[in-house]
Amino acid sequence: MGDITGFLKTKRKEAGNRPVNERICDYSEVEQILNSEDRMLQASRCMECGIPFCHWSCPVDNLIPEWNDLLYRGDWKGAYKRLSETNNFPEFTGRICPAMCEHGCVLNIQHEPVTIRENEVAIVERAFAEGYIRPQPPVIRTGKKVAVVGSGPAGMAAADMLNKAGHEVTLFEKDEKAGGLLRYGIPDFKLGKATIDRRLDIMIREGLTVKTNTEIGKDISAKQIINDFDAVCVTIGAGHPRDLSVDGRNLNGIHFALDFLTAQNRLNDSGFPENISKISARGKKVLVIGGGDTGSDCVGTSIRQKAESVTQIEILPKPPAERTTNNPWPYYARVLKTSTSHEEGCERYWSLSTVRFIGKDGCITGVEVEEVEWVGANGKSVMQAVPGTKRIIEADLVLLALGFVHPVLEGMITELGLELDSRKNVKVGKNQTTSHPKVFAAGDTVSGATLVVRAIASGRTAAKGINTFLK
Ligand SMILES: Cc1cc2nc3c(=O)[nH]c(=O)nc-3n(C[C@H](O)[C@H](O)[C@H](O)COP(=O)(O)OP(=O)(O)OC[C@H]3O[C@@H](n4cnc5c(N)ncnc54)[C@H](O)[C@@H]3O)c2cc1C
Ligand code: SF4
Repeated sequence: MGDITGFLKTKRKEAGNRPVNERICDYSEVEQILNSEDRMLQASRCMECGIPFCHWSCPVDNLIPEWNDLLYRGDWKGAYKRLSETNNFPEFTGRICPAMCEHGCVLNIQHEPVTIRENEVAIVERAFAEGYIRPQPPVIRTGKKVAVVGSGPAGMAAADMLNKAGHEVTLFEKDEKAGGLLRYGIPDFKLGKATIDRRLDIMIREGLTVKTNTEIGKDISAKQIINDFDAVCVTIGAGHPRDLSVDGRNLNGIHFALDFLTAQNRLNDSGFPENISKISARGKKVLVIGGGDTGSDCVGTSIRQKAESVTQIEILPKPPAERTTNNPWPYYARVLKTSTSHEEGCERYWSLSTVRFIGKDGCITGVEVEEVEWVGANGKSVMQAVPGTKRIIEADLVLLALGFVHPVLEGMITELGLELDSRKNVKVGKNQTTSHPKVFAAGDTVSGATLVVRAIASGRTAAKGINTFLK
């Protein structure tokens, strides 16, 4: 521990965000970067607790107190080395992780946790700037061939680990570029795509083969992949979106959130491909159904597209401002979150269910909603409509941000006959093994839609499992 009184002398200081009036005119990242001196001071606030709950809260087991100490001492290179032992892509998590670590930080008992996530991204960005992240191809190749199918964070992490272990790895991706939801789901204002390209470039120079525009189960059969490779890792995400089957669902102007976000990401990335129709919020009254992070990304994107108004509704009750007694520290705090997109201008409502979509001439014009109450019964929370509370919210673009139910089963998963769990995710055992002896699986395909950091963690576990299997 570098400075035993650091947390007493130095207050938490965040880098902060670009001003709202500036950032809503472009898609560049919203979050700013703190200067190195302040960043080192922030690291000095880490108390290096006997039981580091931050480490316990981090799905990739980042050695947080250790790299905070190195950072405080100005050993940026040492800090990066320690960070890269547990996390293949701190430049992703340092930008977009919800930072469960900070919820578990002991200083969070006083609501002033160490700026762990920002410290993480500062360390890795310094490492790139100073050039000590360079391609390091393995010295020895094992002669074993591994196919990783799906290039999101789970697939990228598995591919990175397996390539570094000396196997000949091919990363297959059905889209035109690799990155999964990092590239086509998460908006640029949270994660600029140059960050993904920079890392992929290093991985390719280390010997990884990336084959895009190749859907396994369609362009190449799954059986062919099984024949051609010694092991296969399935990381195809959880691409089946949850729908809302109420009257009027077939009206024009109702879209899945991901279709809307992907269209804008493609436009920012490489101009608009002819075969994809652009969904635009420009001049529209936008209603986002679903109060989670995907919904919030729709809010920020609609605002940048110059929507007339943006409203977001959620069926669950408004979360409390502070932790409740059944959600104590050091667990992740289930409290009201206001994202940078919400700050940019949006009406938010909770405890509203969607009764029906209303339209004219085949196009959406509004949504009938009704207030609901959540009442406890037999240990469960049950939803009840509140009589006399139906009303109409005007909308000419509705975005369904209701989450994802499970992976797309048609194609690869069905062809291989992989066993599923009760939620129709691919069932895995220890080390991410599936019911097929040569096939492993990781990421959202296994867990259901979750987080980038969890996808990286399970991709790493799958790689370890494959490594052991190949030996
Ligand atoms: C809009 C949105 C915003 C999000 N924001 C955040 C955030 O801020 N922070 C956070 O931590 N998490 C966020 N998430 C969640 C996070 O993006 C996912 O949990 C994570 O990307 C899952 O990684 P994955 O590798 O399992 O799958 P994915 O990222 O979904 O990647 C799967 C890849 O497999 C490809 N694929 C599918 N089928 C095939 C096939 N048959 N052949 C070849 N390729 C195939 C897909 O095209 C895709 O590229 C967000 C999710 C969404 C939708
Ligand atoms: S990956 Fe997420 S939980 Fe882990 S240290 Fe980084 S910000 Fe915290």
